[in-house]
Amino acid sequence: MKISIIRGDITKVKVDAIVNAANFGMLGGGGVDGAIRRAAGHSLQEECVRLRKEVIPNGLETGKAIVTKAYNLPAKIIIHTVGPRYYSGDINLLKNCYTNCLKLAEENNCESIAFPAISTGAYGCPIEKSAEIVSEVLENFKSDIIKEIILVLFDEEDYEIYKRVLGNGMKTDLNEIIMD
Ligand code: ADP
Repeated sequence: MKISIIRGDITKVKVDAIVNAANFGMLGGGGVDGAIRRAAGHSLQEECVRLRKEVIPNGLETGKAIVTKAYNLPAKIIIHTVGPRYYSGDINLLKNCYTNCLKLAEENNCESIAFPAISTGAYGCPIEKSAEIVSEVLENFKSDIIKEIILVLFDEEDYEIYKRVLGNGMKTDLNEIIMD
C-alpha cells in the first residue's frame, strides 16, 4: 500500500474515494466541506437532504461516516465523516473517522482514498496532533483492496508538519507531491 501526502486542493485529486470533513447536520459548511460541495455540484446537496430525511434523521454522529455519490468530482464516491471539536469534544474519536472511512472505502471497492486533515480547521485540532493520530491509524492498517492512501494538506506549513511526523512514524516510504 502506498501512502502519499499532497499539498493542494482535495477536490482536484483523482481518486476513487474523497473524504469530506462534514458536520453533524450534513447539510453544508465552510472549509473543505464547502469546497467539496461546490465542486460536486447541487445534486450532492439534494442527496444529503434525502439522507437526512431517510437515513440519519438525527444527523451524523462524531466519528461515524456515510457515503454519497461524487457527482462532478473526479471520484467514485464521497465519504463524509464528522471530526471531533478539539476543545469541547473527544479527540480520540478522530481515529474512528479515519478507520470508518477506510472501512467504507473497502466496502465500496475503492483502490484509492484521499483524506483532508479532519478537525484541523474550524474544529481546532493542532495539525501535529492530527498527523500523530493519522500516523498511528495507518501504521496499524492493512488492506487487500486499498492500494493508495493520500493525505491532502491545503497549507504549506501543514504539509511540512505532516511530512515530518509521518516521515518519522512510518515504516514505509512517503510519496510526496506538490500540486500546482
Ligand atoms: P473541520 O471543521 O473538520 O476542522 P475544516 O474544513 O474547517 O474542517 O478544515 C479541515 C482542514 O481542511 C483544514 O486543515 C483546512 O486547511 C483544510 N482544507 C480547506 N479547504 C481544503 C481543500 N479544498 N482541500 C484540502 N484541504 C482543505
